[in-house]
Amino acid sequence: IAPPRPVTSGKDPRFAPTLYANVGRPESWTLSSYLLSGGYQAVQRAFAIGNDAVIDEVKKSGLRGRGGAGFATGLKWSFMPLNDGKPHLILCNADESEPGTFKDRYLMSEDPHQLIEGMIIGGFAMRASLGYIYIRGEYVQAAERIWAAIQEAREAGFLGKNILGSGFDFDLQVHRGAGAYICGEETALMNSLEGLRANPRLKPPFPAASGLYGLPTTINNVETFCAATQILKYGWEWHAGMGTEKSKGTKLFQISGPVARPGIYELPLGTTFRELIFDWAGGPLEDIKVIIPGGSSCMMLPYTEAILDTGMDYEALAAAGSSLGTGGVTLIPKADCIVNATWNIVRFYAHESCGKCTPCREGIGSWMVKMYEKQVRGQGQPGDVQLILDMCDNIGGRSFCALADACLSPVMSSIKLFRDEYDSLANTGKPIYPARNRWRDA
Ligand code: NAD
Repeated sequence: IAPPRPVTSGKDPRFAPTLYANVGRPESWTLSSYLLSGGYQAVQRAFAIGNDAVIDEVKKSGLRGRGGAGFATGLKWSFMPLNDGKPHLILCNADESEPGTFKDRYLMSEDPHQLIEGMIIGGFAMRASLGYIYIRGEYVQAAERIWAAIQEAREAGFLGKNILGSGFDFDLQVHRGAGAYICGEETALMNSLEGLRANPRLKPPFPAASGLYGLPTTINNVETFCAATQILKYGWEWHAGMGTEKSKGTKLFQISGPVARPGIYELPLGTTFRELIFDWAGGPLEDIKVIIPGGSSCMMLPYTEAILDTGMDYEALAAAGSSLGTGGVTLIPKADCIVNATWNIVRFYAHESCGKCTPCREGIGSWMVKMYEKQVRGQGQPGDVQLILDMCDNIGGRSFCALADACLSPVMSSIKLFRDEYDSLANTGKPIYPARNRWRDA
């Protein structure tokens, strides 16, 4: 298919989104609407070029996992063993729970067939005959739309036996979570699917060697499977022609906080924060002091001219001392107490700690959240900020999964950037910027 014009700049009025191309069309979640927009042509191309060529195509496209970690998707797909005689499984991680992140929810509720097509392509490439979509429990409408779309796809012959006469059999199942953040950690997700408590498993073995029910499994995020659909539809050259040298393609960026038009914007990787905040989101509505670049697990960045001119891609954000994560950009206003804002994040992680390992259960779930409560209640004492930093030293890198480290990122970066606000609360009990009564249950 002739690709849409490559995206070069968010400022370009002819900007052509693909992941989000169908969103906003009438009944975009139905099969008839999807077919009108060229739906299910990508999977036909996949069948025509063959399994290995599909993996090669995804490799050459430069696609990296859109769940947050940015692992090379084609490489991950190539880890699945060949001719091992075992059933292969693929999983879609639709347990999107990262604070500030809401793109997968709209992809599923507005364009579920794009995800289904990406999973058929992935299943075909990796010789899997069954796929599971693990959806966050709170995403009720998304789950209903996905279920309805699977039914439609089955009836139309896109799922089931001998899909489109290709000889390939593949079907999908939906599993709804019950609202636990840890279920988005891939190995905890697999335990949850197996009916076990959602505790993470040790890695390695990675899922391709031993995944769901001990079988070779590949797990990708919703946006990653959707990007695979677009890559097979328009070709790897088109995808590799967008973005930066090592961060290819477009990304769904989400922006929340005090801006004129918060929401989801599909932009090429490498687009600057300035373009997202001013050209797309309409600019800030008040003075800002912090940019959280990719969900709450990322290091906070100061709202400076240099950071505004930083590209939102894996490399530029690593160089700036943070990460792209999920692309969920959150702005914190200058007038907000940073200790209070960080406490809100900390208590999220404390609540979501699964309790399996001591550094996270005691360090985050008990000590860290209590230290923050003490500060925001005005009961801080001199030495508390150093104690919090010492706790970070003792927790960091010592927990079973990434949850505890994720909590430390906003803690350490906010102390580094706004030590004066922390010191004021610890030494005098008074905040520099009084909390705006948002979290009254302190
Ligand atoms: P990770 O780097 O451990 O792994 C990323 C993926 O690559 C996994 O699928 C893993 O199995 C695979 N992988 C990594 N090394 C491998 C190897 N040597 N061999 C084979 N496969 C390998 O990261 P993670 O713990 O899976 O995820 C952390 C990220 O998740 C963070 O960056 C955070 O931004 C993000 N996150 C996202 C959400 C969300 O709602 N989307 C929620 C929480 C966290």
